[in-house]
Amino acid sequence: MSGQMRPVEHDEPRMLGDHPALDILNTVERVEGELVDSLQTDRDVLRWLTRVGWPVENDLAHLGKTSLLETARALRETIRTLIERRKAGKRVDPGTLNVFLGESRSHLELVSKRDGSLHLKRRWEQRTSGQVLVPLAECAAELFATGDLSLVRRCENEECVLWFYDGPRSHHRRWCNMATCGNRHKVAAFRERRQRRGSAGRIS
Ligand SMILES: [Zn+2]
Repeated sequence: MSGQMRPVEHDEPRMLGDHPALDILNTVERVEGELVDSLQTDRDVLRWLTRVGWPVENDLAHLGKTSLLETARALRETIRTLIERRKAGKRVDPGTLNVFLGESRSHLELVSKRDGSLHLKRRWEQRTSGQVLVPLAECAAELFATGDLSLVRRCENEECVLWFYDGPRSHHRRWCNMATCGNRHKVAAFRERRQRRGSAGRIS
């Protein structure tokens, strides 16, 4: 079973990354030293997409042979590789992400509201697993093209593998989550200070 990640159960997908392209990476996290993947079924992927707010059809029977889960994991690891290489200052080959982008079939639709006003809505075709995931691929591509990669950071807890986008609200965010990694750091720093004071006390 080595190399196999065990599943993790959350009531609802957690969105700590402040950007969907990072939140998808965060579906793999370290729990008690082990990497766990919260995407275990097609349904998990649908739940995740819905949580972000992207429209998904509930009937997946028509998606064909490649499962949504496998495609989502492949896209996730494509995004992960690109982000890790860009953060390391290396050249990236966007070819694989471009394949996902190439799946896109969408059109604009003019929709009338109750009050008679009209607005535009984009409709995505969802005939293949790749097409269901196009909004994620596009969102990641936009991050690489127009986002500030210096604001894309990994949690400072060395044992944590989660990413986040340090948006305009803070600009000095250090942790994926203050309640877990941030608090762990605070407790460790407090212990260290107390220890130092304790040993200094003994010397004097
Ligand atoms: Zn963390």
